[in-house]
Amino acid sequence: MSWTAEQKMRLLFALRSKGVTDKAVLTAMEKVDRGLFVQGIFADRAYDDTPLPIICGQTISQPSVVGIMTQALEVGPRDKVLELGTGSGYQAAILSQLARRVYTVDRFKRLTQQAQGLFDQLGLTNIITFCADGSHGLPEHAPFDRIIVTAAAEDPPGPLLAQLRIGGIMVLPVGQSDAVQSLIRVRRTEEGLDYDELLKVRFVPLLEGLGRE
Ligand code: SAH
Repeated sequence: MSWTAEQKMRLLFALRSKGVTDKAVLTAMEKVDRGLFVQGIFADRAYDDTPLPIICGQTISQPSVVGIMTQALEVGPRDKVLELGTGSGYQAAILSQLARRVYTVDRFKRLTQQAQGLFDQLGLTNIITFCADGSHGLPEHAPFDRIIVTAAAEDPPGPLLAQLRIGGIMVLPVGQSDAVQSLIRVRRTEEGLDYDELLKVRFVPLLEGLGRE
């Protein structure tokens, strides 16, 4: 069963009221039923604007944060996007509506397998899923036009900055893992890197190595 018109309206209202105004982003988010990405006892809260627990002790991000990050990324139809932190696959599914191709990486095999199953079910053939420690990026597929990180590091990881094309944009949370973090946007120009801070957020930490599950 897919989501109802009322659930959709409720979610879109929450997005707009938190500052997600980009038409293309709203349309993309309207096409992806978050209920498919939230399983188990929290399924009935899938359309609330709140982060929720998923398997492997991780979380699916808050829809308005997904919207704000996607909007800040300024994704175009020709863009090749790298996402670090597949998690449930929700963010990747939204990016797949806007980009040419999405490379998404998670350190948990169970998460990448489950997300891949959903991408297949939804016919999202422009997403490529990898199980790896994404903090090194994906050098064999670099450079990327856009990079989004959905787990918090203390600083933007050097290998990711190096894999961002000139003119490219990276959006990521930075800060100490348990404290409040800042969502920042980095633009790579001919001259160097420009940073701006978007809002305070709270993400699970970016960890090294592969997960056990
Ligand atoms: N974007 C996801 C939410 C991600 S939660 C969604 O839409 O549901 C953050 C994810 O980052 C977790 O699944 C965690 O396993 C992953 N992660 C943390 N450190 C990582 C690393 N070094 N490499 C790859 N994935 C990592």
